Amino acid sequence: LTIFAGRLCEEQFCSVDNDARLCKENENIDHRRSSLYVKETNERYEKYLVAIRNAEQNHEECNNTKHECFKSVIARDLRPFREKGVSEEMIEAARTRGTFYQIIKGKLYREKDCMFPARCAGIEHFLLKIVGNLSDMDLVINTRDYPQSSEYFGNAMPIFSFSKTPQYYDIMYPAWAFWEGGPAISLYPRGLGRWDQHRKSLNKASLEIPWEKKESRGFFRGSRTNSERDNLILLSRNKPHLVDAQYTKNQAWKSNEDTLHATPASEVSLESHCTYKYLFNFRGVAASFRYKHLFLCRSLVFHVGDEWMEFYYYAMKPWIHYIPVPKNADQKELEDLIEFARNNDDLSKKIAHRGRDFIWNNLRMSDVTYFWKQLLKSYGKLVVYEPVLKKDLINIKKE
Ligand code: UDP
Repeated sequence: LTIFAGRLCEEQFCSVDNDARLCKENENIDHRRSSLYVKETNERYEKYLVAIRNAEQNHEECNNTKHECFKSVIARDLRPFREKGVSEEMIEAARTRGTFYQIIKGKLYREKDCMFPARCAGIEHFLLKIVGNLSDMDLVINTRDYPQSSEYFGNAMPIFSFSKTPQYYDIMYPAWAFWEGGPAISLYPRGLGRWDQHRKSLNKASLEIPWEKKESRGFFRGSRTNSERDNLILLSRNKPHLVDAQYTKNQAWKSNEDTLHATPASEVSLESHCTYKYLFNFRGVAASFRYKHLFLCRSLVFHVGDEWMEFYYYAMKPWIHYIPVPKNADQKELEDLIEFARNNDDLSKKIAHRGRDFIWNNLRMSDVTYFWKQLLKSYGKLVVYEPVLKKDLINIKKE
């Protein structure tokens, strides 16, 4: 009856000739329903609103022009080596797990072979900028995705890795992909890199599509490097009005099974991500390079999982710079978070812009170089022996 009456009113049949009393009753029901809806939605969102309020109360934005933002990461990662220092024996034990470098009298040397030459080049780009001011040291730099020194397997090994979870002793360094050697996809056939250029192109793209013009939907494009991504892909298939998330091929792709039983989607440039308000980031094998780019769209970043880190992640705070999403969030929870963002547009915009400003102001190429310099200065102080140039190393020079 109510629905019938509702339809009558909607269709503007509420004339005196029709049953006006019925329509009035229906209006009341509609009103009660909508207040109930608002109450329910507020209750549903209350936990998110409280989380934002609490985060804002306790937050003070760091300022990297004073080099404040990433200092604590260096101290934290070097802590396991502080007491005994870094000995030659420790380096020898670690050598098989990474590429061996030496810095001797302001020059950079490397073992001849590098497992991933473009990654070594991406690392050396920064090392060559700072090598002149560093003390002599040996370095084992892991160019694989995965960290190498787990706290579950023996003592801490002095190995540098770009990404890790708190269960690893690896010392985090800025990934090669800030310069070159990132994943090669059809849009970036020479591999994702040149953060300096992406900063500019993403900034331009974000200015061309301001918040109000963005689509109020979630977005993700990437390959199935981790099944933690599946629930968002499934939500996208069930509720495409909320999110467009699809799997692309990667080099390991063999059949549609690798794209969760669907034809692989075409790749989408990072700049085109800026069309959407809500951009999802997931870990891959380790942390995903996509993360820093998403912020520069001035879109709201939904960061799934909190274990996999790069050096700059610690300085970014949940609910301040991004929306944190539990790694095992089911479709309902993902839906709730997207709906929350849609229904709280001003808040969403505020967080999006804070995240963007953080990356724009604090993660410049000069910040990356500075981090490398501080990291190796601090590491150099822990070296407890006199490194001697080894035979068979090659001198790495600026191109
Ligand atoms: N990527 C992209 N557009 C796409 C798919 C991927 O720009 O349509 C980029 C993305 O920035 C990421 C990289 O390609 O850094 C590799 O993405 P993928 O999902 O394959 O692997 P991930 O490194 O995230 O595990």
